[in-house]
Amino acid sequence: MNFHIHTTWSDGTFTPEIIVREAIKKKIDKIAITDHYETKKTSSIPAKYLKMYLEDIRALRKKYSDKIDIYIGIEVDFSPRTDIDSLPDFSGFDFVLFEYVQDSLWEGYPLWMLFNIQRKLKAPIVLAHNDISRNFKDSDITALLRVLESHRIGVELNTNINYTKLGEPYYRLAYDIFYAMKNYSIPISVGSDMHHNLEELGEVNDALNFIQELHLEKNFKLFLKEIGGKNER
Ligand SMILES: [Zn+2]
Repeated sequence: MNFHIHTTWSDGTFTPEIIVREAIKKKIDKIAITDHYETKKTSSIPAKYLKMYLEDIRALRKKYSDKIDIYIGIEVDFSPRTDIDSLPDFSGFDFVLFEYVQDSLWEGYPLWMLFNIQRKLKAPIVLAHNDISRNFKDSDITALLRVLESHRIGVELNTNINYTKLGEPYYRLAYDIFYAMKNYSIPISVGSDMHHNLEELGEVNDALNFIQELHLEKNFKLFLKEIGGKNER
């Protein structure tokens, strides 16, 4: 599985169809395409093309439905680089990744602002590649887990090398937080943030191992349940 993949719809190298075919070749059962929503940071999908993006991925989902499950996601840069006030409701999307939440190094907006935005959204929310041990170092772990649970905000385990420090992925550096997470209904997703290298499609094993090591299977199933929700497949 891999729930964080970029394509030519934003700053990725490959078209969605090339990615789907490669994923089938690699025997991956579930993928999510998660291109960037309109941001000044990188090449991204303008609001007016969202519908086309949705239709494009939906068509692929149908075409390859007997070979792979395809989910439709999108990634929002939660910072002044995005026009957060006119964010669409993302209805029709399986989930929305929010990057840089509470991340001061990237001018990320605080988590409480995401709660306000959430009321207007019609898709589940997941924090993408969050450096949770740094961004929430001043927060009480129990309080953080409680608010994530009460708002049903998920957390992603991202295996991309960009989200590591001293060779360790951010999620392993937040061991205490994830250790406690099994006691909370917080969805957990996995992804590699693939942009340019098809080999990265299958590179989520460390995240899946981490889920097993910390007994987070229920949280992972919760994510699958959330994204498999109301949209017809
Ligand atoms: Zn990404």
